[in-house]
Amino acid sequence: MDTKENDSKLFTPGPLTTSLTVKQAMLHDLGSRDTIFINIISYIREKLLELADASPDEYTTVLIPGSGTYAVEATFSTSVPRQDAKILIIENGAYGQRMIKICQALNIPYDVISFGETERVQIDLVANKLKLNTYTHVAIIHCETTSGILNPIEEIGQLVYDHGTTKGSTVYIVDSMSGFGAIPVSLRNGHITYLISSSNKCIEGVPGFAFVISKRKHLLTCQGQARSLVLDLYDQYTYMEQSKQFRFTPPTHTMLAFKRALDELEQEGGVQGRARR
Ligand SMILES: *Cc1c(COP(=O)(O)O)cnc(C)c1O
Repeated sequence: MDTKENDSKLFTPGPLTTSLTVKQAMLHDLGSRDTIFINIISYIREKLLELADASPDEYTTVLIPGSGTYAVEATFSTSVPRQDAKILIIENGAYGQRMIKICQALNIPYDVISFGETERVQIDLVANKLKLNTYTHVAIIHCETTSGILNPIEEIGQLVYDHGTTKGSTVYIVDSMSGFGAIPVSLRNGHITYLISSSNKCIEGVPGFAFVISKRKHLLTCQGQARSLVLDLYDQYTYMEQSKQFRFTPPTHTMLAFKRALDELEQEGGVQGRARR
């Protein structure tokens, strides 16, 4: 097959068109324990914190092989205790509905507040729902990819922060799959506990892994909670901290492409620059 700049342009919500240079970055075979590769893992983990306005003292990045949904499921699976937990899902489209399916598959007690597919999440209705009920977790989609609707995640984050008996005790999960990298987001201002995105959305890498920017203090309380071996965010994190490596075979070529995609994001002026485009 020829190497050319343009295949047909992709406008799908999954893989998207990547630059020739991002594709070319994959033309190397690196071993999973290769020092160059290990350094790239660390670089990517740190760079993502910077893009998220997340302090490295408070947050850490966990990389999970697979598509975005793998990381959403890993986050639910790991962060929700097996007992005495209830999650509120704020839903206004296909990806919010996928969170419901994840709860059903994992047997997680949940409640849903739904809005129309072409409607933004309404803050006052969420505030009311939170006033009348107690939840240990709240989850929302940042940008509903199918409709393009942007939800007010920072305002909702403030409500979640104030919810419950102790400020900040409610876990706030944000799926920013199709927002992160192109829409500025601040984990700090949004009081976000877990923010999820993947390699092949706005950062414009190739598919193969997803990441969860996680509040370290909470993640460290999650040992043994995951309902899965591979989708265990806690285990993946502790292993990565100790060894600087993945637990199982990493998507090496995808990581090389992603490192290059991050460089190109920076050349474009970072998140602000991409947002302008
Ligand atoms: C792409 C996307 C996902 C993940 O979908 P995958 O097919 O697993 O990559 C989840 N949420 C949103 C909002 C998305 O745009």
